[in-house]
Amino acid sequence: MCYGASMDAPSPRLTAEQWLARLFADDRPRHLGTGWLSGLLGIVLGLLALLAVLCLHFPQYLTLPELRGRYPLALVRLAIDVALLAAMGFAGLSMLLRRKKALGVAGLALAGAALLLGAGGVEIPRGGASAVYLGIDWFVLGVLSTAAVFVPLEGAFPHRREQAAFRRGWLTDTQYFFASHALAQVMSVAVLAPAVALGSVLAVTPVQDLIQSLPLVMQFALAVMVADLAQYAVHRAFHAVPVLWRFHKVHHSVEVMDWIAGSRLHLVDVIVTRGLVLLALLVAGFDQVAVYAYLALVSFHAVFIHANFVPRWGWLERWIAMPRFHHWHHGVEPEARDVNFAVHLPMIDRWLGTYHMPENRWPEGYGIAGERAPEGWMRQLVWPFRRR
Ligand SMILES: [Zn+2]
Ligand SMILES: [Zn+2]
Repeated sequence: MCYGASMDAPSPRLTAEQWLARLFADDRPRHLGTGWLSGLLGIVLGLLALLAVLCLHFPQYLTLPELRGRYPLALVRLAIDVALLAAMGFAGLSMLLRRKKALGVAGLALAGAALLLGAGGVEIPRGGASAVYLGIDWFVLGVLSTAAVFVPLEGAFPHRREQAAFRRGWLTDTQYFFASHALAQVMSVAVLAPAVALGSVLAVTPVQDLIQSLPLVMQFALAVMVADLAQYAVHRAFHAVPVLWRFHKVHHSVEVMDWIAGSRLHLVDVIVTRGLVLLALLVAGFDQVAVYAYLALVSFHAVFIHANFVPRWGWLERWIAMPRFHHWHHGVEPEARDVNFAVHLPMIDRWLGTYHMPENRWPEGYGIAGERAPEGWMRQLVWPFRRR
């Protein structure tokens, strides 16, 4: 399809770092030891702590009902207080190291707001449930758990060693990460309801009986295969059909690959792809446990294949999708066009003639041809609807 040399396209956008530098009127150097990184860490931790405190105040509006009653609250309160102290520590360090204090002041302000609102000691109000809610708790948990796995992994075994954590586009991708977690209710209604309704119409009882008679482990393995075949078909259609490509090219607009880059998916892309994959699993009739196990796998694997990470076990690349396999899917080179559509099993691409894994090589760059997406979740949400 339409990839090509976007690397030398003019760059009208600000990188997130430049944006932050402008926001804080701070154009001082940003390398290690200048107080830039500690300033950013102070802001991130202060913001997460503030969001967690707000979740304690308004659980009915800001937390998922599926998770609400299950938290070990003593641990959550301790974590909030530790995050607050760390935020203040990092912000203070930034103010010591940096002549411009705005970054440190912002971190302190966020931590201060969380402290004023009661920090980890907030009494949880008793009250009814709300019909509409955000998954702010799901977002905070998602950031902490995913970063805990992938930041050390990318730090220890990076493909591009020079790549910064706060690289071009990170703020856009963070907005996607936020939206996909915070809007969990919208996503699950839009994905689940049509799939369940259609699934019961399309179900073939003898096939479902056969599948449910299999042991769970086999059902799980089969579910991965069925889901990846469905995902392959939908993904290929998103590349081949011009109107669908308008939505999917949002995902291909990332120009730097790392764990958070995979979050960049247009809402239409997410709903159609996840809905149809789920439909395939429901029609096949897999046990709920196998479906949940598959959902847990895909939520890890879809992040993993975007990571800036070189695994030591190259021989596995042929059988299980690794970062190099999916990085080729995002490559700007002509040789990377319409290849490696699978998320889990590269063999599907081998069967269907779209497998591309040149010996020991990675793509030179990532992105879409002659075009750059606008920055920001909202702008990218309307981008497919804009006339060229
Ligand atoms: Zn694609
Ligand atoms: Zn991708």
